[in-house]
Amino acid sequence: MCQVTDEAPAVPEPVFRDDVTVELVRSSAQDADVLFAARVSTAGEQSIEELDKDPARSRGLINYLMRDRHGTPFEHNSMTFLVTAPIFVFREFHRHRSGWSYNEESGRYRELQPVFYVPGAERKLVQKGRPGKYEFFEGTPEQQKATTAAMESSYRQSYDAYQAMLAEGVAREVARAVLPVGLFSSMYATCNARSLMHFLSLRTKDDRAKVPSFPQREIEMVAEQLEAHWAALMPLTHAAFNEHGRVAP
Ligand SMILES: Cc1cc2nc3c(=O)[nH]c(=O)nc-3n(C[C@H](O)[C@H](O)[C@H](O)COP(=O)(O)OP(=O)(O)OC[C@H]3O[C@@H](n4cnc5c(N)ncnc54)[C@H](O)[C@@H]3O)c2cc1C
Repeated sequence: MCQVTDEAPAVPEPVFRDDVTVELVRSSAQDADVLFAARVSTAGEQSIEELDKDPARSRGLINYLMRDRHGTPFEHNSMTFLVTAPIFVFREFHRHRSGWSYNEESGRYRELQPVFYVPGAERKLVQKGRPGKYEFFEGTPEQQKATTAAMESSYRQSYDAYQAMLAEGVAREVARAVLPVGLFSSMYATCNARSLMHFLSLRTKDDRAKVPSFPQREIEMVAEQLEAHWAALMPLTHAAFNEHGRVAP
């Protein structure tokens, strides 16, 4: 038998995370898509049968397209990712406008869950230098302790304020204003290999890059997972991207 009580539903305990996750939800993306698109001007649709016949020629064509920045053959593919990361990462992510589609979870239609970002021990905490030339260094144990304590306390306080407003009947879309950018969100992000390469060129730090970039570590953590999924789907294209300085064609 079901018991009816007047008790308010329990407020969930905050969860503190130091990671981000990227799941490949669906894809239609392979090296053959690049070759298929590139050869339309010479062999047309017949070329799809030729793709696997001559791997060295296929590799050569992908390298040539990458080197000479013939970008459009890299657009005929699609990857959809489920990304779970703090809101401050999404703010940076959503600046990538070309070749990306996004759908993020709603804070208007759903009560937001208390999952918050706290940097892990390996996250360098101290920044030195000037804008564009920052270097990051390990924090001391005291700095790590102070960071964790300040973040957890601030997160608890803001989530309590959010819950207090909801309990008073305030709309979710209003109450959410007190929640910080360290709150986790999730989104579907769909791109193609060309738009992903542009993203990776800006959001990873890599010695092979012709044009170095200095991204915030947390978006780089997302980028590394995106890259691993993509490399498994399109190994020849990924290798050519690295060989030609990690510049989007
Ligand atoms: C390390 C780093 C630090 C950053 N710091 C800041 C910062 O302090 N403040 C800040 O506001 N942003 C900052 N950004 C964001 C940056 O300015 C870009 O918004 C972001 O990197 C997306 O790049 P994008 O415009 O090339 O990408 P996309 O929007 O995906 O565009 C891809 C390409 O399409 C073309 N394109 C797209 N839209 C247009 C257009 N309207 N006109 C002409 N060409 C277009 C361009 O060739 C562009 O490179 C930073 C980015 C990085 C990587």
